[in-house]
Amino acid sequence: MTPVEESPRATGRGALRRSLAEAMGAVVDVIFPPACGACRSLLPNSALLCTDCERAADLLAPPLCPCCGLPLATATAPAAGGDALAPAPCPDCAGAGQTRAFDAARALYVYGGPIETAIARLKFGRVPQIAIAAGDLLARALEMGTLAPLGAACDAVVPIPVGRARLADRGFDQAVLMARQIGRRLDRPLLPRLLQRVHETRPQAMLDRDQRSDNVRGAFAATGSLARGKRLLVVDDILTTGSTADAAAAALKRAGASRIEVVTLARAVLTC
Ligand SMILES: [Zn+2]
Ligand SMILES: [Zn+2]
Repeated sequence: MTPVEESPRATGRGALRRSLAEAMGAVVDVIFPPACGACRSLLPNSALLCTDCERAADLLAPPLCPCCGLPLATATAPAAGGDALAPAPCPDCAGAGQTRAFDAARALYVYGGPIETAIARLKFGRVPQIAIAAGDLLARALEMGTLAPLGAACDAVVPIPVGRARLADRGFDQAVLMARQIGRRLDRPLLPRLLQRVHETRPQAMLDRDQRSDNVRGAFAATGSLARGKRLLVVDDILTTGSTADAAAAALKRAGASRIEVVTLARAVLTC
């Protein structure tokens, strides 16, 4: 199948689709008034979290691994010959034989607390509005430079697709909803079908670090020429070991992408 590009620009059909989406959004707001993604308290706008949950959520703060965005101990030595103030990459990004296919990954929050609740409600409580609010929040963070070195300077936005079985069960793909919202706000095209899962994988949450890597190796393919020479912003809800993002980035680089940045709502900080 040839990947199809969703352009945000105001072509006739695009503008009509946008107006319809906005009108549908207004109807949805009346039927399902905006509520906090974690505690469900009603909100005056479509924010991800209420003020109390936002205060309880843990924002990721430097020093971070310059590659995967993992929070590092402040004592981490700088890379040899590198900037004395720049932290060295974490062992997953720069250990023996380790490289990442993505150029940089950043998340807004540490996975846990209200963010963990919101992601669970999004996926298992089937509340797609949480993905839309998360996409809005990430787009704002990208515009403001909060997720540097990630910014708004990408050529297109690419969601990491969920497997077919999970899509059938859930009824929507949370990464597509988040990526579409980011593309709209940044005025960048969405490439929703560029990345394909070529085989089903087991849920990563059930696996340890090595199993996660084996589980997703070769799981993705990118077909067609849309990726060629492009700087792509890859979107997912959560990054844990980075294995899934790495496998997705490898497929996009094989298809000719020049740079892959990965943005997620949350970053799990594993202790094992
Ligand atoms: Zn709340
Ligand atoms: Zn790292």
